[in-house]
Amino acid sequence: MPVIAYLPEIYPDELVYSWFCRYYIHTGCITNAMAFQEILYNRCNNPSKEFIGHLNPDAAKLIQRLFVMDDLITKHTMYPQYARFIPLQQKKNALYHIGYNFCDAHHLFAILPRTQADSQLKHCPLCVKEDRKNHGEAYWHRKHQIRNMSICTKHKCLLVNSDVTAKSEQSFTLNPAEITVILKEPQYSKNTLQVAFCEYMAAVFDAPINLDSDIPISAVLYHAMRKTKYMKQSGKSRYTKRFVDDMQIYYNNIGIGSIASMSQVQRVLLQDRFDFSVICQIAFFLNMTIDELTTPDLTNRQINQEQRSHYIKNREPIDLSEYDEKIAPILEKLAHDIYIGAASETGRPERVSEKLIYRELNLPGHRLEILPKCKAIMNNYNESYEECWARRLIWAFDKLTTEENGAPFYWSDMRKISGVKKKNIDKVIPYLPKHTDRKTADAIIKIIQGK
Ligand SMILES: [Zn+2]
Repeated sequence: MPVIAYLPEIYPDELVYSWFCRYYIHTGCITNAMAFQEILYNRCNNPSKEFIGHLNPDAAKLIQRLFVMDDLITKHTMYPQYARFIPLQQKKNALYHIGYNFCDAHHLFAILPRTQADSQLKHCPLCVKEDRKNHGEAYWHRKHQIRNMSICTKHKCLLVNSDVTAKSEQSFTLNPAEITVILKEPQYSKNTLQVAFCEYMAAVFDAPINLDSDIPISAVLYHAMRKTKYMKQSGKSRYTKRFVDDMQIYYNNIGIGSIASMSQVQRVLLQDRFDFSVICQIAFFLNMTIDELTTPDLTNRQINQEQRSHYIKNREPIDLSEYDEKIAPILEKLAHDIYIGAASETGRPERVSEKLIYRELNLPGHRLEILPKCKAIMNNYNESYEECWARRLIWAFDKLTTEENGAPFYWSDMRKISGVKKKNIDKVIPYLPKHTDRKTADAIIKIIQGK
């Protein structure tokens, strides 16, 4: 097996992936496959963009000799983004596996799907110029790749998307920045909050990772929230809906790519998820300092206080995804019955309104918003009043046709059982063909017109 000849120097804040890309250029490997053979475990491995990847024993030995692995991981991979806020034991476990015992990073912590804005490797035009001047070549910087990062915090200009996908999966290529970057004139953000938020994320990303302290991030955020209008003085209940609404308006104005949703915030506060971007959004919105967030100082009493707060309202913390699984089929059946009329005594189809669902299922307020499956079901049944009225007219027509056994019936009969008023009829008629055949639609229109 070919062995690594030598490794180039690794640059400040450079991704390990970028370093391997430069190895590929420097050693004059003719093909990507050749470079892979010298670095990776076997031909089926793809190089990891965000971590180190599965190295072959020789490459691993060489790198472990040259570097303190924990330093390489915390300074040259995206580990600080994914592991910053996870529980201590999981943090240590991830460090070990990335450094010494390869396993897919998806098993080490949650790696969320990427939004469009984060789908490519990003670069800063001025960093490219500077790197070429100082080092003779461009390279991929880590901090530019943070999710939701839109600005180079060094030069304050907007980052540029390259053609290189940020995903590692199925990407069997090394794409050196030097030959991939697209040089554009730097553009500057006029939004000072956008710049401030990016600087905040970069500072959180760069802050030292403490491997001794194990204070849950949910407790840190709980105590930061206690000083705000989003929590009752007693600390016993939070106004999460109001908090998320305000926060979403705030970040909409800043214009960031992926704004935390209600369920994402909820899961962070319930100690179920530890997403870097969501936590940075919460903390920046709460005006927390970098130190308050990254080196929190809470007593055991304070930590317990937060733990207890989960139990106050629901007695036990609810597992939202389990709850969603449980409720979804019940909701599906109920929504279907309401829609076709099986839920009412007369058999009349109804609109599946949130109000009705909350009442029938006896759900606490705003619950549907944090249950993705249930929410999707509700979206499926989403319709305007006019469309529902059209369905009711068709139902009334069929019912009267059957009951009257072919004898004529009139608009007043239809109105009585359908509950549809004539003043709305112009907006209702266009929906008829969507729910019945042309002949029936025409017959209904005739009756409405009294012909
Ligand atoms: Zn820059």
